[in-house]
Amino acid sequence: LNGYVGFSNYPNQQHRRSIKRGFNFTMMVVGESGLGKTTLINTLFESKVYPASDSAGDGSPRGTGAAAAVVPPAGVDITSVSADIVESGVKLRLSVVDAPGFGDAINNDEAWRPILENIESRFDAYLAQENRVNRSKISDNRVNALLYFIKPTGHGLRAIDIEFMKNLHTRVNLVPIIARADTLAPREVELFKAKVLADINYHGIQIFKPVSDQFDDPETVADNRAIAAKIPFAVVGSDRFVDRADGAKVRGRSYPWGVIEVENEDHNDFVALRQMLLRTHTEELRDETDVALYESYRTQKLLALGH
Ligand code: GDP
Repeated sequence: LNGYVGFSNYPNQQHRRSIKRGFNFTMMVVGESGLGKTTLINTLFESKVYPASDSAGDGSPRGTGAAAAVVPPAGVDITSVSADIVESGVKLRLSVVDAPGFGDAINNDEAWRPILENIESRFDAYLAQENRVNRSKISDNRVNALLYFIKPTGHGLRAIDIEFMKNLHTRVNLVPIIARADTLAPREVELFKAKVLADINYHGIQIFKPVSDQFDDPETVADNRAIAAKIPFAVVGSDRFVDRADGAKVRGRSYPWGVIEVENEDHNDFVALRQMLLRTHTEELRDETDVALYESYRTQKLLALGH
């Protein structure tokens, strides 16, 4: 457990039980087709999460690499894939919910709605279990983080991005991602990040940010600050290994002027994103989902029902 930061405030018994059983951690990825969602998720899992064939196991066409030409069905078709991974000795049942096709339609009015409904239906399922007499086996499929892929236009957020985030931010931890960051020059990435952040602030959109409190040690405070400074994470994904100048084979993308390495912190923010999601802030994202987002949904729901 060394180095697993998020556990300090977790009640002991629950903590031990969770370690034995492992945790559920559910992520949702949303964004237009072709922005690299599948590629990034595969890299996050280190191995292929989506089967190499063009089937996700549930009959829906999914693309990886060459199969990416498969056109997803019109509209938003939500599918989920899970795998067990081990991070710092802790078993994590990582589920990724994919909503392919978001923003692909000609008319994208209310494209956010089916995604909001999916997130809320997971809250409803949890609520129904909480209300049962025997609550020992609650399965928790609530979405702990939503990775929202922003197109690297260089021009800030588009109307569809703003609409989406404004409608979702009270229900899920939003993690904005600048997709395909290698298509912008480093200087453009910095400018684009500033524009995206300014838009997020201007529209009063809440996004997930690591924050420190008075109990954090200086190292944690510094880590939090370093991660927060990278938001929105500008990432590069690749399902290929390429030859670096020194001959090493690295996951990356090859250009005439050199190689962009996926797992090099100087080249893009993939490592910081992975650290935050699966190591340093896993617990915080789960807590925020349970204590703030779910709780406020539950309160609103019960009030509406007249309880
Ligand atoms: P999805 O539709 O969002 O799931 O996108 P995919 O992961 O299927 O990727 C679509 C295409 O973009 C594929 O040909 C990928 O190889 C490519 N791709 C994925 N990530 C990146 C990236 O970071 N940069 C660039 N230039 N291409 C990428």
